[in-house]
Amino acid sequence: MTNEEINKKCCTILGMHWHEDMPSELRPDSHMLCKVCGTAFTGDHVINPNFCDDAGAVRLLREIKKQRWYVEFVIFLWDLKDVDMDTYDYIIAPGLLANKLIEWKEGKG
Ligand SMILES: [Zn+2]
Repeated sequence: MTNEEINKKCCTILGMHWHEDMPSELRPDSHMLCKVCGTAFTGDHVINPNFCDDAGAVRLLREIKKQRWYVEFVIFLWDLKDVDMDTYDYIIAPGLLANKLIEWKEGKG
């Protein structure tokens, strides 16, 4: 799974909007628009959260904490048994918290 796919899945789980590039024939010359919400961005592409780097892991944790299922997810993290990692490793290793969030959500069916 690419980082973009991971980030998009996390946004869906968190109820956050994922911006999509407007096709070039439909957008103004000077900036990019989201084809879903119309938000304008400078540059060639829309900007979405990146939960797979250090700063993104902190933002992801902040977004998870806003969710009503926050405690349920934290219990899932605490219950993971891995000889090489403890719960905090899942939080501080870039990208791992995002992967665990997807694994937890998909495991719930
Ligand atoms: Zn948008």
